[in-house]
Amino acid sequence: MLRSVSGRGLETRQFGHRARLALNPAEVLKADDQAHAARTMWNLLHAWWQMIPKEKQTLANADAAIRQARQDIDFLAVLPAQAAQAVLKTYFQAWRNCWDARADAPNFKGRFRCAMAVDVPQGRDLNIRRVHRRWGMVNLPKIGRVRFRWTKDLPVGKGATRENRITGARLVKDALGWHIAFRVQTLEPQPEPHQGPPVGIDVGITVPLALSDGGTYEHGEWLTRQEQARLLDLEQRAAGRKKHRKPGERTSRRLHHTYDQIAGLRAKAKRRASDWQHKTTTRIADTYGVVVVEALTITNMVKSPRGTVEQPGRNVAQKSGLNRSISGEAWGRTVTMLTYKLARRGGTLAKAPAPNTSRCCSACGFTTPGSRETQALFVCKNPDCGWSGNADHNAARNILHLYRTGHALVPAAGRAVVRRARRAKPATAR
Ligand SMILES: [Zn+2]
Repeated sequence: MLRSVSGRGLETRQFGHRARLALNPAEVLKADDQAHAARTMWNLLHAWWQMIPKEKQTLANADAAIRQARQDIDFLAVLPAQAAQAVLKTYFQAWRNCWDARADAPNFKGRFRCAMAVDVPQGRDLNIRRVHRRWGMVNLPKIGRVRFRWTKDLPVGKGATRENRITGARLVKDALGWHIAFRVQTLEPQPEPHQGPPVGIDVGITVPLALSDGGTYEHGEWLTRQEQARLLDLEQRAAGRKKHRKPGERTSRRLHHTYDQIAGLRAKAKRRASDWQHKTTTRIADTYGVVVVEALTITNMVKSPRGTVEQPGRNVAQKSGLNRSISGEAWGRTVTMLTYKLARRGGTLAKAPAPNTSRCCSACGFTTPGSRETQALFVCKNPDCGWSGNADHNAARNILHLYRTGHALVPAAGRAVVRRARRAKPATAR
């Protein structure tokens, strides 16, 4: 391992950085064409894979097949050769993930079901320069030199070395337009152990994050009143148009436009939510050395409210509203952010088992019926105790207590959460 000046070890860190691209309409069309070609390439590759005998399913044969396809099919030529190679690489990785039981088998990509994306696998072709306080320039193959929003110092130009550089990028399109995601690699000294105190965090809907030391992190609605009204209006308009469509009739341009406007507003709300999450988790990771959260299984919490035919669910409308609130808070993403942000600052994240943290008294440890008097108020019914306080605060104190008594799991620092299929092998040997 390399040593830094201070004597601490150095570690390479790989992360992504996403920036908005400023493309003119002609460039947007070129990027769209490339993304469609990349998707078609994937679909052709998948069709070829399913058709040929198993012993011929090799990387070399697949490579030859896509080279031939690029010659035979005119519109595939808009896709840069490197990006076509990247499709091949991703496709093989998808099969590897399937064979290791980390994911389902790869499938065809539908025009409206998949995200539009083009890979730029080689960083040296990008030739990134900062040209203004807020803008950078980047070379995109077969699109040209374009501007992107500069929001973070990137290792480019004279600042780039063999260890600190941009190794590649990916163009991605969402409802708000084309973006570029840079792959950044840096070499940094390992962090000193975090000296901050431990804290327990309870997640909820009325109070998004309640801390065991009494602090809370809250947010308002993501969309303004006007935006909410507009979203509702658009949704009703889309529903109305859809209802009056005859069977087999194509979705009109006008309806597609309404769908795009709805997606734009929803993307705006999502972006504001993730901005709040980033700011909050950064502040928490700066302040505390150990963060303890509940080990929640969100998939169980948002189980379908309708139930089965034999056992129909109760309070279906309320439960689906609650599900929407649970999913809207995106706790899983908060935990992921905390994990890597704490690891970078020398802190740790611990997970405590969830049951009873909201019903148990954090002063005496007893669970007494009826102690949670309202949504916000907790009053202990144990005659010898009688502690009262905020219910979320009480839960957060319980979570911290579980950690202090050694009932919490400490997940490996900085390792991303891998979503796996059932009966899965871990991504790497532990
Ligand atoms: Zn008590």
